[in-house]
Amino acid sequence: MKIPKVLYLRSFPYTVTQVDWIDPASVDAGKNPLKTQVYYGTCNSETQEITIRKDLSPERKAVILIHEMIHALTDDFARPITERQIHDLSHRLYDAITRNKLEF
Ligand SMILES: [Zn+2]
Repeated sequence: MKIPKVLYLRSFPYTVTQVDWIDPASVDAGKNPLKTQVYYGTCNSETQEITIRKDLSPERKAVILIHEMIHALTDDFARPITERQIHDLSHRLYDAITRNKLEF
């Protein structure tokens, strides 16, 4: 999967940047209940920016991109879905897309 440089999500253009490292201090800890100190991707809906670590495998980058897209697509929900749900959904979507060889 090629990682795009721009994605339109809920009509907003999100820039997608691949980075060497994500500083945990730059991530709002309140948005990460799993409390992991290693970040593979981030989504900032205020600035419409998604970052993904460039050292990941192509498959892992795809899962992380789907994960961050779900954040962008659901951050206005009245009842936000949990980090755990986003984690599980991103893996399930990646599996469904790749196993079924979906192309749009
Ligand atoms: Zn997340």
